[in-house]
Amino acid sequence: MVWLLGQRGVHVVTLDNLSAGHRDAVLHGELVVGDMADRAVLDRVLSSRRFDAVMHFASYIQVGESVTDPAKYYLNNVAHTLALLAAMRDHGVQRFVFSSTAAVFGEPRYSPLDERHPREPINPYGRTKWMIEQALDDYDRAYGLRSVSLRYFNAAGAHPEALLGERHEPETHLVPLVLQAASGRRPHVTVFGRDYDTPDGTCIRDYIHVMDLAEAHWQALRYLADGGATRAFNLGNGDGYSVQQVVDTARAVTGRPIAVQEGARRAGDPARLVADAALARAVLQWQPRHGDLRTIVQDAWRWERRAAGA
Ligand code: UDP
Repeated sequence: MVWLLGQRGVHVVTLDNLSAGHRDAVLHGELVVGDMADRAVLDRVLSSRRFDAVMHFASYIQVGESVTDPAKYYLNNVAHTLALLAAMRDHGVQRFVFSSTAAVFGEPRYSPLDERHPREPINPYGRTKWMIEQALDDYDRAYGLRSVSLRYFNAAGAHPEALLGERHEPETHLVPLVLQAASGRRPHVTVFGRDYDTPDGTCIRDYIHVMDLAEAHWQALRYLADGGATRAFNLGNGDGYSVQQVVDTARAVTGRPIAVQEGARRAGDPARLVADAALARAVLQWQPRHGDLRTIVQDAWRWERRAAGA
């Protein structure tokens, strides 16, 4: 996102405590190393210039960890985010773009999922995101703070020229894990369940290119600048691919065998999560351009080869 904003000529200040981020990933603007929970840091940053908007990417994101350590999630994803919104109010910043998630929906009642689908999150991670979405509606009504919540489905891929890519520690996401198995950084990838009610028995997800997500954030900023109302949007391609199809695509793209181990179902995984992103296309004029699963895997593979020296 910071890279894209740089390309578009936007001045950016990044606030990151580097607990999961990387100093060298900030390719544009100024980096302030500090914590969103630290009101003095927020005051210093927010008073240093006049900000048009704040974009929030600073949540913890691991579903499993949110079950075993919910306090970590409620504190950072809810309390610290509310503290950030309070600081924004005090400094007169009235636009907010929030990274939300398909996890706000819980177990799908129908597919593809549009924005009207009931929000019934089934884990603390999803609940923290849904709480903030609800707070944002209230804050708009009461304080005029306008926001866009973007519900990512399965973010994947990398910058097409491999400037940036996924670097999680530990890595838990399917596409980088499969490609690490291809490059030799891992011995195999484990398929979490082959007994789902899907054509090949593995879970189906909607993989969306990270550059398309960044473009949606750009469109969200423009929408808010044009006076757009507080709203949440689902972001996906609308195409579902199974875990097995991801492995097969990675084998085709990389030309490597990729060893697969069969594993048990992962708790809390719905069989199928696919987005209906018609609202984002209509209201944000957003069009995913960076493509389908194959392009996502190709771009992620370029990044993985560089990271692995493979
Ligand atoms: N998955 C898998 N093996 C792994 C990691 C993930 O089979 O090592 C499956 C997971 O069960 C889900 C899909 O791949 O069906 C995508 O999982 P990921 O963790 O990448 O994203 P999530 O769907 O949890 O947001």
